[in-house]
Amino acid sequence: MPISKEPATRTLAIRIPRPLEQLSKDELERKQHIGKVTTRTLRTLTEKFASRGFEWTLPVIFAKSTDPLWPDPGASIETRIETEIYGETVRTTLSMIIHKIVACSLLHPKFFTLSPNVRIEKRERRATGWHAYEFTQLDFEARNTESKDIRRIVEDILRGLLEDLKKNSREELTYFNRYKSLDAPSSPFKVYDREDLEAKYGKQWETQLPSAIKEPTWVTNIPREFYDYEDFDTRKWDNYDLFLPRYGEVLSGARREYEHGKITAKMERDGVKKENYELLLTLAKEGRVKPSAGAGIGVERLVSWIVGAEHIGEVQLFPKIPGVVYEL
Ligand code: AMP
Ligand code: MG
Repeated sequence: MPISKEPATRTLAIRIPRPLEQLSKDELERKQHIGKVTTRTLRTLTEKFASRGFEWTLPVIFAKSTDPLWPDPGASIETRIETEIYGETVRTTLSMIIHKIVACSLLHPKFFTLSPNVRIEKRERRATGWHAYEFTQLDFEARNTESKDIRRIVEDILRGLLEDLKKNSREELTYFNRYKSLDAPSSPFKVYDREDLEAKYGKQWETQLPSAIKEPTWVTNIPREFYDYEDFDTRKWDNYDLFLPRYGEVLSGARREYEHGKITAKMERDGVKKENYELLLTLAKEGRVKPSAGAGIGVERLVSWIVGAEHIGEVQLFPKIPGVVYEL
């Protein structure tokens, strides 16, 4: 069933998804339908990226360097996982952004990966219905590409996905009462500047916007981590988020910084530890980091929207809900 409440109020009455072994027969059947939609979604998305010439690479879990997730107004991490292997400190992947910039510069001009991210979100986020502490990004990057080209790719792929689902997953969409209501506009989607949204809704624009839009909508110019491109003259950020009606942000992306001087200045400004990004900084200094742009799509969030889930944990085989740790 599609959710009937708006996200801002969803938090009050939300039900926390239970693990597989506690589900009733009907709930298991629902989960099976979600499985079918997930299969079709992954099959279509990967096929669409691959057929556009993106190499399909496999993800990494541990590295010395990972996304600082700072400063990002949307980030809320309770614990940062660091551990030691072979005498070296490594972190679990918060996102593969650093790997993406390096791989896109040195090897694949276009590629994507299905990347498990571990983010120990603050436990109160269990009630948003929109956060998991483990989730998967379909993360992609393209060299010498502009933001608007990435947005067009996403728009085309999203529209293609919905068309495919309507054709090939009609039974499931009907079961979820989503066959008629699931739609995406034709390109280009509407684009809002974050400054205009702040003027209208205040700092809480992110929670207000989903109930104000009727179709997937872009937001640009969002101040955040050092790797998103910032014009130092205009102070505008060349980045973008895709918002889904009634739900919220499903994708974040940007044109990337590649110049050593700018990356260093931003790390110093933001208090990001340069020693955690030695390789990136060395490559940038040597001029080996190439301009690129890309994005990461939250797979579970996308499927939640498609099936009209109340909580993102419903679309996970093994729910990873902030503050709730099941055995599996
Ligand atoms: P980010 O670049 O940090 O915005 O992450 C990229 C995408 O991953 C977001 O747009 C979301 O779709 C998804 N995502 C981020 N955090 C979570 C979370 N805690 N649970 C589920 N999906 C998430
Ligand atoms: Mg984001």
